Amino acid sequence: MRKIEHIGIAVKDFTISVPLFEKILNTACYKKEIVESENVNTAFFQKGETKIELLESIEADGVISKFIEKKGEGIHHIAFDVEDIEAEMLRMKSEGFVLLNEKPKQGADNKLVCFLHPKVTNGVLIELCQEIK
Ligand code: ZN
Repeated sequence: MRKIEHIGIAVKDFTISVPLFEKILNTACYKKEIVESENVNTAFFQKGETKIELLESIEADGVISKFIEKKGEGIHHIAFDVEDIEAEMLRMKSEGFVLLNEKPKQGADNKLVCFLHPKVTNGVLIELCQEIK
């Protein structure tokens, strides 16, 4: 792992939260993208090295809707930038972590991603992400 790539925040409604984060960060959202595999809409902001990803559900019983139902809006995951996602997934598995997907998935923002089960990471949903070159 090299650094935090982004922090994912679950929100109910982009029409409220995108302008809110534009105000907080004093910068415009640079990308909105639907991730079909997760049924979520994403919005990205960048401030220096730091990226924030807002996540909005596009279906009533999607993962983000369920998360918000249980925990309310707020921080959903922390994503770490990795050089070689397959190697990092193998390392995590050999350390006893539970991967939520066995193969890297296509994520937002030109990334291959894999999530670790929060049960074994102190309740923090961790995303590994590798830039697709
Ligand atoms: Zn993410």
